[in-house]
Amino acid sequence: MNPEIPETARPKYFLPKENILPQDRLPVPDLISKKWADLGWPLEMQGTGKTDRKTGELRIWYPKGDVFFSFATLIHELGHWRQEEIDENLNKREEIFPDSKATDLNANEQRAYKRGLLRVKKYVPELLQELEAKFQQHQGTGKLKNFNNFEQLLEWHKNFGLAVANSFVGAPDTEDKEEYENYVLEKLKALGMEEKFKEFASLRVGETIDTEYTENVLMKIANDTANE
Ligand SMILES: [Zn+2]
Repeated sequence: MNPEIPETARPKYFLPKENILPQDRLPVPDLISKKWADLGWPLEMQGTGKTDRKTGELRIWYPKGDVFFSFATLIHELGHWRQEEIDENLNKREEIFPDSKATDLNANEQRAYKRGLLRVKKYVPELLQELEAKFQQHQGTGKLKNFNNFEQLLEWHKNFGLAVANSFVGAPDTEDKEEYENYVLEKLKALGMEEKFKEFASLRVGETIDTEYTENVLMKIANDTANE
């Protein structure tokens, strides 16, 4: 006869609407060096998925750009939610950016790609169906002709993203911003990313992601992710 005070219904994790942050331009020069942007760094690669383990708040920045690649990045970023607790064995991913402490960035990224897609398949399979239908429409116009379906485009986007992440591997741990930016710039060039950026641009279909629709999708995924 000593009833515990019932737990409140609020899940440990939640996504406040104001933490959904569509980006309509690259964060130059704060996060993205102007030199990298000038090489053709695409807006649609720009996003971040974060979890505040103290407050339980989830947060996501995603690109408000061309529909397929923006969704592809969004799907990846939501794979980062709760990553520190799930992938405890991996070195912590702080950010891809300058003061990164992640030493196994590639493994972190791989897991996020995989987990993001699994979450979408599990929690909002209708999103993939809608993207597939849209993909087929655009393909009918002759665009995206090297791909059979949206998931193949996702695979291309993943390999592209991992190549970009590789450009940061071995970057000098330095306060010298220019030295750091130049290291990544040279690495991007050495990995052939200038050409890849052009290829990326050629795969845009000219339709922008719908932020209202996206907000609803994200709220649903966040809610289910909170209950994992
Ligand atoms: Zn990532």
